[in-house]
Amino acid sequence: IASQAPKRIKALDQDVVNKIAAGEIIVAPVHALKELIENAVDAGSTSLEIVVKDGGLKFLQITDNGHGINKDDLPILCERFTTSKLKAFEDLSSIGTYGFRGEALASISHIAHLTITTKTADSSCAWRAHYADGKLAPAKPGKSADPKPTAGRGGTQITVSLAKKSSFNLLNETQVEDLFYNVLSRQKAFRSPSEEYAKILDVVGRYAVHCTGVAFSCKKHGDSAMGISTPSNASTVDCIRQIHGSAVANELINFEVSDDKWGFKASGWTTNANYHVKKTTILLFINHRSVESSAIKKAIEQTYSAFLRKGGHPFIYLSLDIDPQRVDVNVHPTKREVNFLNEDEIIESICAEISTRLSQVDTSRTFTTQS
Ligand code: ADP
Ligand code: MG
Repeated sequence: IASQAPKRIKALDQDVVNKIAAGEIIVAPVHALKELIENAVDAGSTSLEIVVKDGGLKFLQITDNGHGINKDDLPILCERFTTSKLKAFEDLSSIGTYGFRGEALASISHIAHLTITTKTADSSCAWRAHYADGKLAPAKPGKSADPKPTAGRGGTQITVSLAKKSSFNLLNETQVEDLFYNVLSRQKAFRSPSEEYAKILDVVGRYAVHCTGVAFSCKKHGDSAMGISTPSNASTVDCIRQIHGSAVANELINFEVSDDKWGFKASGWTTNANYHVKKTTILLFINHRSVESSAIKKAIEQTYSAFLRKGGHPFIYLSLDIDPQRVDVNVHPTKREVNFLNEDEIIESICAEISTRLSQVDTSRTFTTQS
């Protein structure tokens, strides 16, 4: 084949670059919601109300009662790498949360429109601002983009409107398009709104179990029935009962294990040998962020294989606090898998503790039946 002259290489538009980057972090609406939940919890909220339309493909709204955002910070709020949680590079190694990069709101604003209404305790009114592509945007073309004073409760309400650029009018169906309207290649990855909604309920349910002292609610836009509703005074087991049912909640045993040598502390609730289902459910939190770990899952299943008959699997809620210095902060921004030092040793001690607790329950049962 005769060689053709190569086409010239050109830089992509910054706008396109931003959208591609955002699309890599936020692959589904649930990823945007997870970041918003973490922000609300970080803001000291005791109540989070979530409303979702079409599985979040069109509309997500989260209302919290946290400390709010200063009016003067609103202009840079959705810029990349703006954060109140990290000051110097050295802080990276000691920061206790993963939501420190100041990228979440920026990313969301590149693939959707944001409306933020927020009120701090020392402000006499709430402020409302709209965002697109990392910047303040006018609510209507031709209007000013400056934040407007408005009535509102203390805390923050964030609406992610997946409308087309031309419109913030979310409830007008004809003007509303898919969340990733400008990341076309992603659209294939989406299944149905009901599947997206199921993923959203899953994540909200995880945080509801983990964040005791915080009330969570989640429902579909226009529905009166709640998909999830847990009060702020519910215990961990209450929340598990509410979300996963009594069959699970009645068979839970508490465990706690720590070791200064490995710099960790783990606690949680796990089902006893009476309970078994086809698939393992793990609600895993590392330093208060919901994450996944195939290594932990495998080890837990291995542990239970000695107690459950073949094909039986447990339910476990595990909250693991690891010395932030030992957690790898240079993970991919999706933050779904986390690396930490002495992973094998830490997993081993957690599983040994669970194993001990399981056999204790086993023995006490045998004992009571015999006596
Ligand atoms: P990060 O959480 O990594 O700081 P984000 O983009 O998620 O970055 O948020 C940027 C900043 O916006 C946060 O550091 C915080 O100061 C503020 N913020 C976001 N959401 C809320 C909220 N619900 N309540 C109060 N402040 C918030
Ligand atoms: Mg955040």
